[in-house]
Amino acid sequence: MPETINAASTAEQGRSSDLLLRLIADSVPALMAYFDLPGLHCLFANQGYAAYNGHSTESILGLTVQQAIGDKAWQAIQPHVERSTRGEHVKYAREQTLPNGEVRMIEVNLIPHFEGAQKDRQLGSFVLITDITERWRAERSVRESEERMRKFTEATDEAIVFHRDGLISDGNEALYRLTGYALHEVVGLSIFNFISPEWRAVALDYTRSGREDPYEVTIRHKDGHAIPVEVVGKTMPFHHADYRIVVVRDITARKQAQEREAFNALHDSLTQLPNRRHLMDQLAKALARRQGQMAVLFVNLDHFKTVNDSLGHHAGDQLLREVADRLRHAVGEADVVARLGSDEFVLVLTSIHAPEDAARVADAVLQAMRTVFTVGHLPLTMSPSIGISLFPDDGATGDALLRCADAAMQQAKDSGRGNRQFYQPGMDLRAMEVLQQERLLREAIADSAFVLHYQPQICLKDGTLRGFEALVRWRHPVRGLVGPIDFIAFAESRGLITPIGRWVLHEACRQLKAWQDEGLALVPVAVNLSALEFRQRDVAGEIAAALTATGLAPQYLEIELTESVLMHQTGQVLGTLQALKDLGVGISIDDFGTGYSSLAYLKRYPIDKLKIDRSFVMDTPGSADDVAIVTAIVQMGRSLQLKTVAEGVETAEQMALLRSLGCDLIQGHLISVPLDAPAIRQWLLGQGAQTAA
Ligand code: C2E
Ligand code: MG
Ligand code: MG
Repeated sequence: MPETINAASTAEQGRSSDLLLRLIADSVPALMAYFDLPGLHCLFANQGYAAYNGHSTESILGLTVQQAIGDKAWQAIQPHVERSTRGEHVKYAREQTLPNGEVRMIEVNLIPHFEGAQKDRQLGSFVLITDITERWRAERSVRESEERMRKFTEATDEAIVFHRDGLISDGNEALYRLTGYALHEVVGLSIFNFISPEWRAVALDYTRSGREDPYEVTIRHKDGHAIPVEVVGKTMPFHHADYRIVVVRDITARKQAQEREAFNALHDSLTQLPNRRHLMDQLAKALARRQGQMAVLFVNLDHFKTVNDSLGHHAGDQLLREVADRLRHAVGEADVVARLGSDEFVLVLTSIHAPEDAARVADAVLQAMRTVFTVGHLPLTMSPSIGISLFPDDGATGDALLRCADAAMQQAKDSGRGNRQFYQPGMDLRAMEVLQQERLLREAIADSAFVLHYQPQICLKDGTLRGFEALVRWRHPVRGLVGPIDFIAFAESRGLITPIGRWVLHEACRQLKAWQDEGLALVPVAVNLSALEFRQRDVAGEIAAALTATGLAPQYLEIELTESVLMHQTGQVLGTLQALKDLGVGISIDDFGTGYSSLAYLKRYPIDKLKIDRSFVMDTPGSADDVAIVTAIVQMGRSLQLKTVAEGVETAEQMALLRSLGCDLIQGHLISVPLDAPAIRQWLLGQGAQTAA
């Protein structure tokens, strides 16, 4: 035992304090021993230490360390022991495998023992061995889990930042990738430094209140560009303080998609101009600001449909894009250019001083459109019709202003197109009428509320009946019978001509066949086809179908076409005409002399008849000019071997002149006005035919 422990004891006190020490030493959960110097003999060992090395507390006394622990263990610890004998407190931990195979971690303390306070002479060394397996395991698991955590946060693509009251204490690799800042550049700084100023209040609110739902802010990259991010923060107590763990997700792609979607919802995809919805919105905003006067210009392209029909939609699209560009250039920065659809555009001039300002812009638009467009490789001209409404004079709401501008545009169309009109009260009533008219016409088509009148054609040589022309009338619910002049062009403009034309064709064939079956009228019926119908419909196919359906022989049908049909698209027209010819159907040129005739086509196309327009006949024989024209047409017809028919013959003098010129047929009030089918039947049965003769 060291002298210090029992130095001052009497024998009795010594024994009892020895016993107490032994009791304590054997009770502590540690191995303890004392070895003297220089021999390193064991002077004391508690039970644990002695038993651990295979001794009793008595038998171990006096053994050297080497003897006490065995050669193998001695080899392992010898360097530590030697350091301890040189006065050093040596402390180390090592694994210890127990006889049962269990691995424990022990901590060994070799504590030098000196004589006196000066520590100039070392008397020996205490050995204190404690089992630290549990602590060691706990520490290891913490270390491993920290390591795992670190790997985990590095592996994720989501940036993660730890902060306390906004001061950054940690972050992962993805944070660097997102922001461009390395961790050491941001630790200790406030997270608010990295959030765009306008978003700081939001972030501060979330951080302060500890909210854990996601929110969006914009942060700044090190290079200065803005990054929209979604942020989710969670408050976590850590070392007696509240930390926020914040996951920062880059939502640039999502934002861009959202922006694109929002843009598409408000813009026309072809021209990228604002659409109707956006226009109405901007118009409402401009009106709310009410800075002086404003103007709305309704721009509609003239005959745009023709471009689409004849050159194709691709060309039409190209033209619309070019028009959009020119419109944008014609107005100021603060003004709005929108596309309502097809060939309809709207300009909003948000600040004008007088109506003349709007007129000037409209004139500039008219001027801008005058430059030839190049679509594909074709030069094209295009004029717009423009209607103008003014705020506050014409209306106080976007709807009202647009309606007035639209009505004024209709007026511009009616006044010959390619011009501008200011809205005048009453114009919109006309627009209403147009809508009403269209509705009625649609109903008429659904109900087949039409009737055909027939006008006889008579041979000038012998006065015999040679045919009828079928002329359509609309049974209007209010106006009674309405003539074709009043609704055919309208039907064409509203895209309603096709069903009407089909009905006429079918009805004419049906009626003629019925008369034939009755033994009447072995003459052809002529049906008028407008140029638009001729272009849009599969004319030959439909005619063949109508003939089959009604059982009428093809030589009893004639088609009347105007000159304008022949002037376009030579190849296609020729094909269709040839198909009709092949069917056995007759072809007449109606209103001849009023179009821009090229005599060349008369030779090229398989035509049977020329119908001399009423305007040339009506002033004969008084007008020498008209007599000359009619004479020329008749002679030309004869030399081209075409039959000539004079329209609108009202007097006996006209008939006599035409007969002397050698015209083949006449049609007009002199013979008969157009009559409905029952009247024609009477005419055929009775004296009508004789009158003609
Ligand atoms: P159009 O083919 O030249 O028909 C002749 C027009 O002159 C008819 O007018 C007829 O009533 C009128 N008329 C005939 N004889 C005389 C006369 O002696 N004096 C006067 N003043 N007029 C006479 P309507 O029926 O009003 O037809 C006008 C035009 O409408 C027709 O001119 C034709 O181009 C067109 N049309 C008629 N029916 C149809 C149809 O079913 N389809 C198409 N696309 N157009 C049609
Ligand atoms: Mg006709
Ligand atoms: Mg005619």
